[in-house]
Amino acid sequence: MNVSDVVKLLEKIPAWKEIKDLPKKITDLENEISELKSKMVFKESCPKCSSQKFPAIRSRNIGTRTYQCEDCQYKETRNIT
Ligand SMILES: [Zn+2]
Repeated sequence: MNVSDVVKLLEKIPAWKEIKDLPKKITDLENEISELKSKMVFKESCPKCSSQKFPAIRSRNIGTRTYQCEDCQYKETRNIT
């Protein structure tokens, strides 16, 4: 019995399809979680113009997070505690 035989056998098990899709589902969930996290961060407001569009942008330094206002371009780097 080789690998393709095993796969053929597994295809006959109804639950296998779902198990096979799990890695994709996990990836989808991870994407959703990181999206939710970014939306939570999105609630920060700009200290300069009070805009709600003050998301965290990618920071090169570990331990800090940089926010940039989408309205006035004000930038602020904060330490993650
Ligand atoms: Zn602003």
